[in-house]
Amino acid sequence: MENKDGLYGVFGGSHIPEDLKKVLNKIGSEFQKAKKDASFLAEFQYYLKNYVGRPTPLFLAANLTRKLGGAKIYLKREDLNHTGAHKINNTLGQALLAKRMGLKRIIAETGAGQHGVATATAAALFNMNCIVYMGKKDAEKQPLNVQRMELLGAEVVITDTGNQDLKAAVDIALDDLVRNADDTFYILGSAVGPNPYPAMVKYFQSVISQEMKEQMIDFENKLPDYVIACVGGGSNAIGAFAEFIGNKQTKLIGIEPGGLGVETGYHASPLAQGKRGIIHGYETYVMLDDNNGILPSYSIASGLNYPGIGPEHSYMRDAGLAKYTSITDAEALHAFRKLSQFEGIIPAIESAHALAYAMSIAPTLSKDTAIVVNLSGRGDKDMDTLPASEAYSLQLQKQITKEV
Ligand SMILES: *Cc1c(COP(=O)(O)O)cnc(C)c1O
Repeated sequence: MENKDGLYGVFGGSHIPEDLKKVLNKIGSEFQKAKKDASFLAEFQYYLKNYVGRPTPLFLAANLTRKLGGAKIYLKREDLNHTGAHKINNTLGQALLAKRMGLKRIIAETGAGQHGVATATAAALFNMNCIVYMGKKDAEKQPLNVQRMELLGAEVVITDTGNQDLKAAVDIALDDLVRNADDTFYILGSAVGPNPYPAMVKYFQSVISQEMKEQMIDFENKLPDYVIACVGGGSNAIGAFAEFIGNKQTKLIGIEPGGLGVETGYHASPLAQGKRGIIHGYETYVMLDDNNGILPSYSIASGLNYPGIGPEHSYMRDAGLAKYTSITDAEALHAFRKLSQFEGIIPAIESAHALAYAMSIAPTLSKDTAIVVNLSGRGDKDMDTLPASEAYSLQLQKQITKEV
């Protein structure tokens, strides 16, 4: 969908210094070669099958469907992947590319720690050195993920620059890449960043929709009527959409985190309330203030808490190829509990955003409608942190109500 400069219409591209562009061009041309190399693809498939455990099942959530009394809700079980989410598809793909380029030093950024863990896992598997950059605030919130990464052999570098968050970690990782390009590969965690990352991450995540399409034909002898996925940077969503883009039969719906409601300002929904701008070296919709400064974002789901969005999503929204809407913290928490109770599946709080939207439309649709929710990850990781996050969300809500 993108042109050779990584532009999706006006979005994407590489708004970065020349020296970084040179490094990324090299990665991009190696990626183009790898895509055509049968042995590279066979190796990727080998690890997806035997290490990650793919294909992941497509499961009809029959209890939930019965309770809601409308469209059938299917779940694409990315939560059953090794390490518990879709992120491993991408980190293995990029690590294999690094291996092909002879680069043995892997760096990555992480927010909540999920991408850091998936990268440290791939680095351990391929016997590579791994450094993960993490903002100080994030590291304090997610001590267990820091421990996991260290156990896997990664060095976690905690940074107190900027807002001590994901954005600060990305900035430092890009700096590191320029300084150490001779031996270093930067594994980026979502379908964001400068060219060629959005296209590369989409490619490695597209296995989700390739499997989904075959599985839906087996179940229903048709394509899905809806595919619904949560959107942080947009990697699980673009992977779940890829096979269906431009096909009128399948409606594609991305769910941004609505936090306390987009009207309150406490959200991470740049498509609902953002402007065209530049973040992390690419153009997209971004949450910006009146002086075009990047606004802080908020969501109960730390994996969705990002003020930008992958450029292809901005393009698809404006081109009418996919729709996007927001789900609040409270709605996501409700869906999180319902899926656990009705199906015995504890979803990641991120994935619960997509599920909540599916639950809201299912009763309005006919029984022969098939919805697929991409269940991007499992919720075990949320058990420790969710009570505190929920309390914080409620406290913020009260504060805002007072202000109004
Ligand atoms: C990281 C994460 C996300 C958000 O990232 P995308 O790139 O938007 O997919 C969603 N769900 C889970 C479980 C995650 O770990």
